Amino acid sequence: MASDNFTVPAPVATRVVSRREFVQLAAAAAPLTALQANTAEPVAALKVQVVRLKLRHTWTTTMSSSAYRDTVHVAYTRDGITGYGEGAPIARYNEDAAGARQTLEAARALLLSRDAMQFAKIMSQFLEGVTGNWAAKAAADIALLDWVGKKLGIPLYSYFGLDAADTPVTTFSIGIDSPEMIREKTREAAEFPVLKIKLGRGSDEETLEAVRSVTDKPLRVDANEGWKDKEEAVRKINWLESQGVEFVEQPLPAHMIEQTRWVRSRVHLPLIADEACQRPADIPKLNDAYDGVNIKLDKSGGMLEAYKMIQIAKALGMKTMLGCMISSSVSVTAAAHLSPLVDYADLDGNLLISNDPFQGVRVERGRLRLPAAPGLGL
Ligand code: MG
Repeated sequence: MASDNFTVPAPVATRVVSRREFVQLAAAAAPLTALQANTAEPVAALKVQVVRLKLRHTWTTTMSSSAYRDTVHVAYTRDGITGYGEGAPIARYNEDAAGARQTLEAARALLLSRDAMQFAKIMSQFLEGVTGNWAAKAAADIALLDWVGKKLGIPLYSYFGLDAADTPVTTFSIGIDSPEMIREKTREAAEFPVLKIKLGRGSDEETLEAVRSVTDKPLRVDANEGWKDKEEAVRKINWLESQGVEFVEQPLPAHMIEQTRWVRSRVHLPLIADEACQRPADIPKLNDAYDGVNIKLDKSGGMLEAYKMIQIAKALGMKTMLGCMISSSVSVTAAAHLSPLVDYADLDGNLLISNDPFQGVRVERGRLRLPAAPGLGL
């Protein structure tokens, strides 16, 4: 308060105050009121930070190879409660961490403009007012929802009306590498009942042979748009069926929807869209070309949009999958809270890093275990 360094007018209650004196006192008090308003604690605060996550193994897919990843983190504080959020910018959609931070700084006034219980209104204004920048939007959405869950005293899976006992198994991903390293990574993943193998860089047979020399567990394959023509895709997918593969993610480039429809009519394995499916409006266009969609918070712009996508895909009779980028436990735990809704989970981004600043969802023999504490439960 301001009273320490401000001369408060003498008490007036003990004597009768003339009308003229009253007006003078009121005028003197006015700056005090203004000062109090200026120096009081702000109602809400927002902290935005880029965090560098170190990878356990250099991570290679058809798109990139790197030893670390930068994600943007948000801490939203109001009423003594802090909600945490994170977004992993995806280079394929021309996003990076610096841009995500700038977007969040620019949205600061909007995010702090109203009570966070109006999170859906805040997020719809953010989604409509800013083009792209889905990772920044995801970070804000997750922080607001973590705050809401904490405010209500319930975990987010309860907020969405879900049962924590329904979480699926998550795959553990093996990135593109030398056969020797692939064997080592496959051994390290012993606790996971299903593995996801990255293919699409020309060493597919070699990679799968290396995995199969170590384990006979079910596999899921992600080609990350790596096969460039439909005949090649059909050949590879039918070969993968004979290798104990359950489904194939993004066999052809995202824009080749017609060719993917052609492929789908010639294979038995389900095809899952990832790069071809970013936002809710993409899903109806993919019906008939794919059997399911891989939904990620960093593509959709957060949990609210991801929830919407899951419902749209289900309404169209498609399989649903929740995936993630390389990120800390903040983002992965947020996705995991929605995982009781989906058929498949690939939520291992936090397990691929060595300096996770948070702890949230855990994996027990492959099954996702959600924390029961309010909000994300970090
Ligand atoms: Mg993928």
